[in-house]
Amino acid sequence: MAKNTSTTLTLMWFRDDLRLSDNPAFHEAATRGSVLPIYLWDERSEGLRSLGGASRWWLHYSLASLAERLTSVGCPLHIVTGAAAEVIPAIAAASGAVACVWNRRYGQAERAVDTAVTTRLQGMNIETKTFNGTLLHEPGEVTPKAGGSFKVYTPFLRASLALGPPGHPLAAPKTITAHDGPLELPGKTSLEGLGLLPTAPDWSAGLRDTWQPGEPQAQKLLHGFLEGGLRRYGEDRNRPALPASSRLSPHLRFGEISPRQIVTLARHAGADGTASGEQVEKFVSEVIWRDFAYLLLTSHPDLADKPFNAAFEKFPYAKASPTHLRAWQTGQTGYPIVDAGMRQLWKTGVMHNRVRMITASFLVKHLLLDWRLGEQWFWDTLCDADPASNPFNWQWVAGSGADAAPYFRIFNPTLQGEKFDPDGDYVRSFVPELTRLPARWIHTPWAAPRDVLAAAGITLGKTYPQPIVDHDAARLRALAALADMRQAEQAEA
Ligand code: FAD
Repeated sequence: MAKNTSTTLTLMWFRDDLRLSDNPAFHEAATRGSVLPIYLWDERSEGLRSLGGASRWWLHYSLASLAERLTSVGCPLHIVTGAAAEVIPAIAAASGAVACVWNRRYGQAERAVDTAVTTRLQGMNIETKTFNGTLLHEPGEVTPKAGGSFKVYTPFLRASLALGPPGHPLAAPKTITAHDGPLELPGKTSLEGLGLLPTAPDWSAGLRDTWQPGEPQAQKLLHGFLEGGLRRYGEDRNRPALPASSRLSPHLRFGEISPRQIVTLARHAGADGTASGEQVEKFVSEVIWRDFAYLLLTSHPDLADKPFNAAFEKFPYAKASPTHLRAWQTGQTGYPIVDAGMRQLWKTGVMHNRVRMITASFLVKHLLLDWRLGEQWFWDTLCDADPASNPFNWQWVAGSGADAAPYFRIFNPTLQGEKFDPDGDYVRSFVPELTRLPARWIHTPWAAPRDVLAAAGITLGKTYPQPIVDHDAARLRALAALADMRQAEQAEA
């Protein structure tokens, strides 16, 4: 593309929006004149949550893909490190930019950083312009008629839908004019210089086999899903062995695709009869959960640290048992559906939604461990670890969240397994020790007759663990803990 040293240089600050199409900030930059695209790796600004291992892995390849795309249009990406409030203004000054644009973020620390950058840039007479490139509707847009903020999902969903379609997605800019001045950028480094990939040891083989980060692959996945899984999404989305959901979450997390693109194309698929309107709207309502999580993160910035429902501050969690926590993390609980989920997570960097609910519930209720321990583990191991969706969903399962599942509803992992993985295919794909166990016993190996276990090559306690807790006893202990919390609450009232 053309190169230019005109006075209209705009700094495009990429963050959680690593794509060229339907990227409002990038579109703005490209329309104004020449563009200087920057990605800043900021581990210095106060309060930003450090990315987990799987997310770092994803980010490396996502940046590589973005850099390749930008290079192919003649507008290379510059990777820099440092504290945003220092580095971004310094780059603007060094490059002679007249404006800086970005898509908004919603965490408290991120907003504080963005405010500090804005103040500095404006003090230098550099214009700033920000956009919504991440959500269908931003928190302030979806509000109850009576004022305040939504705390329950269904009315939020209704209000969000009532706002109408989120506008037409923007195509990737056709022409991009690159900055062509002398460039000595402060904080400049290379992708490799960020050291995002695991080396000692390199545990990422399963992630490499499962995923291809980047905008082109996100688009491919979406189109494949619209022509495949979407048709039976409502019926099959809870079946972990089926390819029924979109698998777009890590791509969405890093902004390689926008929710607006997803929802618009899903509705097109409904309009042209590829899928029924009912399936499409079920899928859209799941995407809107993400907006709801961001609303909650905005109103409760401590979502990952503090229970949304303050009564749960007093919940009598068991003293953290390293043995139980380790068994849960490594998929050695003796409950096949839980173990399959935790091993899927470790191997592939994601876990099916239904199984996330089962494993999270197991940690919080069967093991009576604090939900924050689970949230932190997911944060480190999920490629889609999201600052809003992860704590929001953990609190939902733990009963302390907004519109949460009531704590007293305790999943029975055996029944959940039998219902959602009836043939045991999901369990078999992640728990190889149980491969030869017939479907009848796959979710209850401890109850299988000896000869069945022997024929399947299983010695309980040796090749596969006995259950680390008894379901009925664990359930009663969890309900007693809930009663204790209620009592403490009443005593204080
Ligand atoms: P699809 O069924 O195809 O849904 C499409 C999109 O809708 C998803 O990609 C996601 O962006 C959004 N979505 C669907 N369900 C939810 C939900 N419950 N909450 C928020 N957004 C949703 N999702 C994350 O993106 N990041 C997380 O860190 C995360 N942590 C979770 C932790 C727990 C304990 C639980 C129970 C759920 C968590 N989820 C998280 C939500 C959900 O499990 C994933 O979004 C989903 O499994 C992704 O698969 P998919 O892309 O095939 O989803």
